[in-house]
Amino acid sequence: MNTLAERWELEPRPTVCVLEDYIGAQARWCPGCGDHSVLGAVQRLARDLQLPPERTVTVSGIGCSSRFPHYMKTYGFHGLHGRALPVACGIKSRRPDLNVFVVTGDGDCCAIGTAHWIHAIRYNMDLTILLLDNNIYGLTKMQTSPTTPIGQHSNTHPQGSQLPPLNPISVTLGIRNVSFVAQTVDWNPPHLYATIRAAYEHKGASFVRIFQRCPHFTSNIFAKAQEDPSRILMMTHPGGINLDPNMARAFPNRIEHDPSDLSAARALADREDVFTIGLFYRSAASFRYDHQTAQGLGATNDEKLAALRKALDRFLVS
Ligand code: SF4
Repeated sequence: MNTLAERWELEPRPTVCVLEDYIGAQARWCPGCGDHSVLGAVQRLARDLQLPPERTVTVSGIGCSSRFPHYMKTYGFHGLHGRALPVACGIKSRRPDLNVFVVTGDGDCCAIGTAHWIHAIRYNMDLTILLLDNNIYGLTKMQTSPTTPIGQHSNTHPQGSQLPPLNPISVTLGIRNVSFVAQTVDWNPPHLYATIRAAYEHKGASFVRIFQRCPHFTSNIFAKAQEDPSRILMMTHPGGINLDPNMARAFPNRIEHDPSDLSAARALADREDVFTIGLFYRSAASFRYDHQTAQGLGATNDEKLAALRKALDRFLVS
């Protein structure tokens, strides 16, 4: 009888992955939820770039969007509330060869996970971070989140939210060592796909905020932007996120923006009269902390032991 290892070797490895190779469990989000669009975009990206499923990981925290890893047929980690980013940094530090996607929500990332968010951007490890922002806590049934607009009714603010919402793009652009910041909408598949692809292809921490529809609790928030395209401002630049001209016609309101200009990016991010989409900022020169954490990964056990002894010898009292 063959050993287990021999049987594995006999199993032919597929040379081409099709979409079904990335589709996991059936998604249980509400009909019309924007999470479905993002899931489809990530699965198509994995198929188009032929990302090996066994070398791809999706990491999440808690929230509606954080069910994402269950729906990808890759490795996944559905973790604790707000803790997706430290888990992802840990994975990247020990397995820099893996493709790591982080899926988080506005409650997960911008409330309980804020400290991790700030430091993960500063560490600038090679992660693709997708913030699915529906402006509400959906999983726990409609509480005000950090990005809920003023006046929006919720179970925690029945008379309407009172605080000015936190702007995740402005915050991220204010963090030292930031390297990639973009924004898109879930209801335009070409722009969504192009943005996630640019984020994946960037080497460093790519932060993408996705305006995500929650038809169950915040159906009013993005309705006007969907009905009136002039409410969306698309940034264009040869070095930015560009669509096929036929697809770009969906966004007649445009502005030229050089993504190497951080000051201009911050000014655009602060605009409240429009939903600005595209690439705010990209820097290939930002320091990569995963280059540090990967040092010594190939060491043998003897080499590790020798290094440990050498380090401990520093504390020797003679
Ligand atoms: Fe999506 Fe909202 Fe339903 Fe959650 S509650 S699955 S965010 S539509």
